[in-house]
Amino acid sequence: MAENLKTKEELLIRKCPSCGNSINITEKVCPYCELAGYKCPVCGEVNNMFVNYCRRCGQWLLDTNYKAIPVRKKDIKNFEDFLASILLYLIILLIVLVIISGKFL
Ligand SMILES: [Zn+2]
Ligand SMILES: [Zn+2]
Repeated sequence: MAENLKTKEELLIRKCPSCGNSINITEKVCPYCELAGYKCPVCGEVNNMFVNYCRRCGQWLLDTNYKAIPVRKKDIKNFEDFLASILLYLIILLIVLVIISGKFL
């Protein structure tokens, strides 16, 4: 019984592909080196650090000719900030359009 429990816990532990420290697979970002995943060299999709194939196009991410690009936590944050600013711009544009069309209708 106790051995089964230990095995289940061990199944959730993987070695970080970047720094080699043992981390839980439920962890989205490595707490040691802040690795967040790998960016597909073909389609640009950011994949979980534990998958070997791109979830979007199926590219083998361990291919040494087309190396997947490691993505750190701070890179993802920058990307999210970028998306947030675009969204804000679109909302403002929409509001302006509604105001303008309201004046002319
Ligand atoms: Zn790591
Ligand atoms: Zn891909």
